Amino acid sequence: MKKIAILGSTGSIGQQTLEVVEELTGQFKVVALTANSSVEILAKQINKFKPKYAVLMNDSLLNELKYKLSYTKTQILTGLEGLIKVATLDEVDLLVNAVVGAIGVKPTLAAIRAGKDIALANKETLVTAGAIVMKEVQENNVKILPIDSEHNAIFQALQGEDRTGVKKIILTASGGPFRTISADKLAEVTVEEALNHPNWDMGGKITIDSATLMNKGLEVIEAKWLFDLDYDQIDVVVHPQSIIHSLVEYKDHSILAELGLPDMKVPIQYALTYPRRNSNNLESLNLAKVGELNFEEPRKDLFPCLNYAYEAGRRGGTMPAVLNAANEIAVSKFLDGKIKFMDIPKLIKRVMSAHEVVDNPTLDQIIEADTWARTEAQKEGEKAC
Ligand code: MG
Repeated sequence: MKKIAILGSTGSIGQQTLEVVEELTGQFKVVALTANSSVEILAKQINKFKPKYAVLMNDSLLNELKYKLSYTKTQILTGLEGLIKVATLDEVDLLVNAVVGAIGVKPTLAAIRAGKDIALANKETLVTAGAIVMKEVQENNVKILPIDSEHNAIFQALQGEDRTGVKKIILTASGGPFRTISADKLAEVTVEEALNHPNWDMGGKITIDSATLMNKGLEVIEAKWLFDLDYDQIDVVVHPQSIIHSLVEYKDHSILAELGLPDMKVPIQYALTYPRRNSNNLESLNLAKVGELNFEEPRKDLFPCLNYAYEAGRRGGTMPAVLNAANEIAVSKFLDGKIKFMDIPKLIKRVMSAHEVVDNPTLDQIIEADTWARTEAQKEGEKAC
């Protein structure tokens, strides 16, 4: 039985990971679960999966959590220290990192140094600290198994291939809810409209990132590190049906892709069971029923976040961390109704322009840049409203 710890078990990916674990009866033992503040869901998960450890980031809710537990043998920890402890437990074989935000970086690094394989859904780990993380991955001889559907597709299309034969990769993007909108209308879209993703059922932050195309931008940076590519080897194409989850083009112009109905349980399961494939009760893709697949260029004029991500990635150093931090603040301000949709890219651009990049940064310098960018983005956000 594979023993797993799930960081961010109450979020969208975390909950779906537990559903996959349940469906693959007898294959996995859940050793640890962690949540930020979703006490209700965490309590239910503890009562059901009976993990040895659980972490609640927000320790002011500790009593509320304990009150809801019918299973009381789980040791409850708090804060980042708790996350790092469960990420590095001797008995854990695989760490599933499904937390949202830059808080995911330190536990991932700690787990890699402790020799754990990582099923990675937390984008920020590679976006902010890709160089450091991949160096540690090599030195500690561990695997990163990507959960993000695009990277999981690329990972699958690379199996058994000689990496030197890769010409480029093509990440597909659904285009989000505003793919065909006019510039005038885009300026006035509401939070509700932005949260209404056409294909994927995801958390709030990533759904907004999907609408601005920043999600794809972060995925470009993530792919650069995961697959050791140059930025000019990474293309993005809009594919509204989200059936092709990404493609690899080889030097002989053969293109390999992974296809399926959009359901995160497929990449989650592959990351959990890799290199094995298990049957499940998900739906088969019926190509005749889908009928047609469409592709188009991303509208970079209306959705400049994708270009900003390429810029930040190519500049390197602390710039990707700044891009990511400014975006996190901008998105939370948009979700709170404090700024408009088109203020998101404006705010990110201003923070990036003001940043003095540190090349080859240490983790502390990355965290410093992240903190600086958050403060700067707060200030810019107040100006915008
Ligand atoms: Mg994705």
